[in-house]
Amino acid sequence: MAKNFTITEFFKRFPDDDSCINHLMQVRYGDSLDCPKCGKHGKFSKIKKVPAYQCAWCSHHIHPMAGTPFERSRTPLQKWFYAMYLFTTSRHGVPAKELQRQLGVTYKCAWRIGHEIRKYMGNVDGDSGLSGHVEVDEAYIGGKDKITGRPGKNSKKTGVLGMVQRNGNVMTHIIPNAKTATLIPLITNSVSKGSTISSDEYYSYKGLQKHGYKHGYVKHSMEQWVKGVHHTNTIEGFWSQIKRSIRGTHVHVSRKHLGKYLGEFEYRYNMRANPSLMFDRLLVSF
Ligand SMILES: [Zn+2]
Repeated sequence: MAKNFTITEFFKRFPDDDSCINHLMQVRYGDSLDCPKCGKHGKFSKIKKVPAYQCAWCSHHIHPMAGTPFERSRTPLQKWFYAMYLFTTSRHGVPAKELQRQLGVTYKCAWRIGHEIRKYMGNVDGDSGLSGHVEVDEAYIGGKDKITGRPGKNSKKTGVLGMVQRNGNVMTHIIPNAKTATLIPLITNSVSKGSTISSDEYYSYKGLQKHGYKHGYVKHSMEQWVKGVHHTNTIEGFWSQIKRSIRGTHVHVSRKHLGKYLGEFEYRYNMRANPSLMFDRLLVSF
């Protein structure tokens, strides 16, 4: 049964930096390994005061943090772990101010940690492709201008194409415009041929039938929200969650950083059935 990973459990599992580095060594290299230098079956032991392990035979060092966002960071590993814990257990994401308060670090440091974790969540979330019944829709996010519908070319908002498999994963792409030539290749690259696709009546989606999909659409302009199996409620639910969270926790998300926020929300959405595994999966995926 998926159960939540509580804060008490977190601190029991990771009471200090050593327990975190140990865990990282375990998940990245396992219990036993052959030394990459001398080839002997390894006995590795932790070096005191250094985040590294040493081969008992040839003194070769293994650095479990190499290649992770923690490498070259002066922030203690336990704070990184705790920040990752907050990201995987919060529904709306974690603003830098909140990280600053919870971790007791500077705002600048908190901001950097947050962005590293978002970037990383986006990378971990392997976009393996969608099939079955998929809803597609674009959204316009960020910026300060208030608009409804599809914005004009002077808008500060960033266009994003979203695709969600019903009862499955979501994928997003930042788009320069919503033309057919932009949207269709993104869809054919991500959704298997033969799948059913639901969208609204926007003209850029009209060609989907030709590309081997069973395409149906609802006419939002006519206030038609459902037609048979077709509706876009799932993807719209995802958009409103993101918009609400960004409004509530981040003052302003620029085009430059939006991709990282999207990665974070995709990760949480795609792991929603296993909230207790979110943190562990994030750690084992370096
Ligand atoms: Zn060795």
